[in-house]
Amino acid sequence: MPTAATEAPAAPRPSRGRSRRVAKWVGLVVCVVVGAANLVSLRWVPEWWFAAGPKPTDPVRIVAVQGGALVYVRLQRSDVRRPPDRPALRWNRFDGELFTWPSVVRPTGGLSVTVPLWMPFVLLAVLTSVLWYVDRTTARRRRAGQCLKCGYDRAGLAAGARCPECGAAGLVGRA
Ligand SMILES: [Zn+2]
Repeated sequence: MPTAATEAPAAPRPSRGRSRRVAKWVGLVVCVVVGAANLVSLRWVPEWWFAAGPKPTDPVRIVAVQGGALVYVRLQRSDVRRPPDRPALRWNRFDGELFTWPSVVRPTGGLSVTVPLWMPFVLLAVLTSVLWYVDRTTARRRRAGQCLKCGYDRAGLAAGARCPECGAAGLVGRA
């Protein structure tokens, strides 16, 4: 038999709704940024060069956005024409083939990893869409006085009463 303590409705978690609202906007912004980076990469190649050490075998690391992909390259200093002594951003014109699929290439003493931007974009777009959909559903149920979890009509129920349909905690303290 449940005691009074377990029967008391658990406090609702408004923080979950708030973090979902934050997440759906962050997701949207990141989607826009990735989409914009993709457009830029069809014409330009921004390259972030990290400082190289002095030895010929020291690695030179480059992160670039080009041809619709994020590219990470690691080469030996001796294989680079102008190895940077300090971090630098270099812009080049894009003139090559687009990257459709991810790849990992290991030239002698180096590494090249390519991730097409459509992959994180699709993943983020799906997750963000789900967040927007859930948030809209929750807001609609709250306005209609329904259980936020299952949509049961809570008309006539005390604000703190559990949902008789799914057992979700009542809407304590809602506006
Ligand atoms: Zn319910």
